[in-house]
Amino acid sequence: MSTLDARNPLVLDTRDLGRRPGHEQQVTRTVPAPPDLGIEVLAVPEGSPVEIDLRLEAVMEGVLVTGEASAALEGECVRCLEPIEDEVEVTFQELFVYDDGRDAELSEDDDEVSMLQDDLLDLEPLLRDAIVLALPFQPLCSDDCPGLCAECGARLADDPNHSHEAPIDPRWAALTELPTSTGTESD
Ligand SMILES: [Zn+2]
Ligand SMILES: [Zn+2]
Repeated sequence: MSTLDARNPLVLDTRDLGRRPGHEQQVTRTVPAPPDLGIEVLAVPEGSPVEIDLRLEAVMEGVLVTGEASAALEGECVRCLEPIEDEVEVTFQELFVYDDGRDAELSEDDDEVSMLQDDLLDLEPLLRDAIVLALPFQPLCSDDCPGLCAECGARLADDPNHSHEAPIDPRWAALTELPTSTGTESD
């Protein structure tokens, strides 16, 4: 288990909160976004501000963290590759269990349980999960983005009536010359 760095702005020190169940502490801070906060095509740019508003509550087993976070998103439309700017707002809640008296190996194997480490808790996994869950799998610049022209790569949303003088592939040209039942006249 890696040791948490108390200087990391996403690591919270719960010593001020104390361990008396019912004690609460409000934490509001703006932190620089860690890397990979999002998905490949849409994410919070690394270093950009993430506003975090938390309530820490001491309970019998540990510290219950309830919070919300908001941040700006940058990415690109999966259909037309146009840059997308958006915002994300998430809420989350997680119980961080006190780590004293626990079998360290046992708790390390248990991914389901978030643990306090020496009274420190790491918000980063919680924040990342909440943001990734809130993002669309396929971000689009608009719901009906028509994508790119298969012929020339132009962005169809910019030019909805986009068309080409259909260049006829010589292999198909012969077919168009075949007589049809409706007539053979061409214009
Ligand atoms: Zn698009
Ligand atoms: Zn085109």
